[in-house]
Amino acid sequence: MPAVTAPSHEALLRQHGLNVTAQRLGVLRAVSDRPHSAVDDIHRAVRAEIGAISRQAVYDALAALTGRGLLRRIQPAGSPARYENRVGDDHHHLVCRSCGRVVDVDGAAGDTSCLAAADDSGYEVDEAMVIYWGRCPQCGPPSRAVPHHQETAREENDHRV
Ligand SMILES: [Zn+2]
Ligand SMILES: [Zn+2]
Repeated sequence: MPAVTAPSHEALLRQHGLNVTAQRLGVLRAVSDRPHSAVDDIHRAVRAEIGAISRQAVYDALAALTGRGLLRRIQPAGSPARYENRVGDDHHHLVCRSCGRVVDVDGAAGDTSCLAAADDSGYEVDEAMVIYWGRCPQCGPPSRAVPHHQETAREENDHRV
């Protein structure tokens, strides 16, 4: 794909029929800066940028942005919802069972067949989402001492953030 200048966040909002508000801009910027953020992280980032914003306002902005297709919501089982601004390509995700870190993973180059349902049962499919579960390099290979290891990894992650 040829490189194009990304439209500003203001332009993106207008293109998608949304009024430009400080809350929406803040949320859009926070998610763009930190893809796969959970609501708490987004709330913190927006508050740091624009001052007071309620958690409900963050939810409202996320709902509007997700509803209009500017953001994508991913919901790994047992994890808070995450939001990202990489939309429209049905990329996959790797999720660490230990620390919850989420990273993007592309499908096999040029191969979309893994996303095509063998039988769609008459559904009009518009999205496919694949989540690979495992352990990230920081958390290391699976250990037999699972509970202790998980605690340690989570604490280290908390300190880093
Ligand atoms: Zn991890
Ligand atoms: Zn992603």
